[in-house]
Amino acid sequence: MTGHPQQDAARRGTAIITGGASGIGRATAVAFAESGVDTVIGYHAADPHDPQQTVDAVAAAGGRCLAVEADVADSAGPERLAQAAVDRYGRLDIAVAAAGILRRAPLAELTDDAWQIMLGVDLTGVMRTFRSAVARMEGPGALLAVSSIAGGVYGWGDHAHYAAAKAGVLGLVRSLAVELAPRGIRANSVIPGLIETPQSLDARNSLGPEGLRAAGGGIPAGRVGRPEEVAAAIRFLCAPEASYVTGQQLIVDGGLTVRFPD
Ligand code: NAD
Repeated sequence: MTGHPQQDAARRGTAIITGGASGIGRATAVAFAESGVDTVIGYHAADPHDPQQTVDAVAAAGGRCLAVEADVADSAGPERLAQAAVDRYGRLDIAVAAAGILRRAPLAELTDDAWQIMLGVDLTGVMRTFRSAVARMEGPGALLAVSSIAGGVYGWGDHAHYAAAKAGVLGLVRSLAVELAPRGIRANSVIPGLIETPQSLDARNSLGPEGLRAAGGGIPAGRVGRPEEVAAAIRFLCAPEASYVTGQQLIVDGGLTVRFPD
């Protein structure tokens, strides 16, 4: 690779990925690397995840990846992330909003602050990411939001704020699909089911290891999903092969949401 976008004809564009230091975000960076898409991953400095592990995994897959500190709760984070793509690779074509938090809070404990923090990351953070990216897209592009079966399909007790944010993301994506279609920019969502990542392995706020193992038996596929299986769907929706797919949501859940209850 020359490092000059015009000379790297084989490369297939540049993507920013929020939440790229772990889980689905990391797997997406690797999936993009496998199809020649350069990535700039955003990471949240306050979290324990190591962005260098993503950079190394992308390099092992033959790709190029830059890690940038980008808190999506603040407009400056996505701005820095999107600008880094232009500065490093000369272009920005794809934005994947994978950053997210999950907190357990029954309604009686759902303070205004807890609500605002959740919405600020899981919904407004997605809008900020897309706004910063679209401002720098010069040609056709793709936006991808990571919603959830919680909110996207199901309700989830003690997680109303998370579900509200994840449902909100779907409306955001549909509307941007309409608004940006004339510019050749597509917008889609994935709705993951139960995927084994640091988020779902957190027993306090999510299912935890034992809960995931038990839940796997009730999923038609017989197991919970892997981040790579969501990343593959994200890669398809962001690729030129999906050029006529916009405003859609793709459920990636091993059949969990289509199973007739026993
Ligand atoms: P994860 O915890 O590994 O990934 C979330 C990432 O977001 C982390 O890297 C974290 O550091 C980052 N993040 C948190 N707050 C941030 C902030 N303010 N600014 C920037 N980054 C921030 O878990 P994951 O499962 O890979 O989550 C990725 C997305 O998938 C999330 O939006 C999550 O809600 C969604 N999701 C996950 C599942 C599942 O079962 N794991 C199911 C449905 C949806």
